[in-house]
Amino acid sequence: MNTTCTVCGHDLWHTEQGHQACGACIRRLDRMLQDLAGPHGLYAQLATVLQPGTLADNARVSGSRTAPLPIRLEPLSLSSRGGVVTILQTWLVDIHDHLGYRHPRWQGGLQGQLDQAVSRLRILLPWAAENHPAIAELFAEVRQAVGQCRAQDLRRTPRQTRHRRLHPLRRHHAHHPRHPRTTLPVRNPVRVGRTPAAQPR
Ligand SMILES: [Zn+2]
Repeated sequence: MNTTCTVCGHDLWHTEQGHQACGACIRRLDRMLQDLAGPHGLYAQLATVLQPGTLADNARVSGSRTAPLPIRLEPLSLSSRGGVVTILQTWLVDIHDHLGYRHPRWQGGLQGQLDQAVSRLRILLPWAAENHPAIAELFAEVRQAVGQCRAQDLRRTPRQTRHRRLHPLRRHHAHHPRHPRTTLPVRNPVRVGRTPAAQPR
């Protein structure tokens, strides 16, 4: 019988004796799954960094005469079938097999399938914490997927918590960086062609 968590190695609480993973690790895993999903999740943000020439890349390629690749390959491979979505679906199938459930059916596009896999996995986490002998591998693969997503220059699209403080138009531009920026309100407009003395005091 397990007396230590197979993920972090710490002693299990009295009420967790025999479990595969401790509550703290399961809460971390649950949090990482949540971070991946939804319209503002890490997976959705991958789409915003697929094309070079967006803000983060401009600084890097300015001064270079070499045309950038038409698409960035790493976020593409993470967001394509075989990437993050497939990793999560594979684990969902694995847990369904353990439980003797029917093979899950995937619905919608890749974002929808990602969200579906996350919500199903989250529901099954309590079972996995108690019973799944490979919970440490599940944890490691989800952590790796989250880490790879975060490594893709997603800084330009602030995290959801910070979004709320952004002006709605700035929030819009964070998601549509190629949209013209001319409609953004400017707090201290620079008056071209006028001397500073001509400005209202
Ligand atoms: Zn643990």
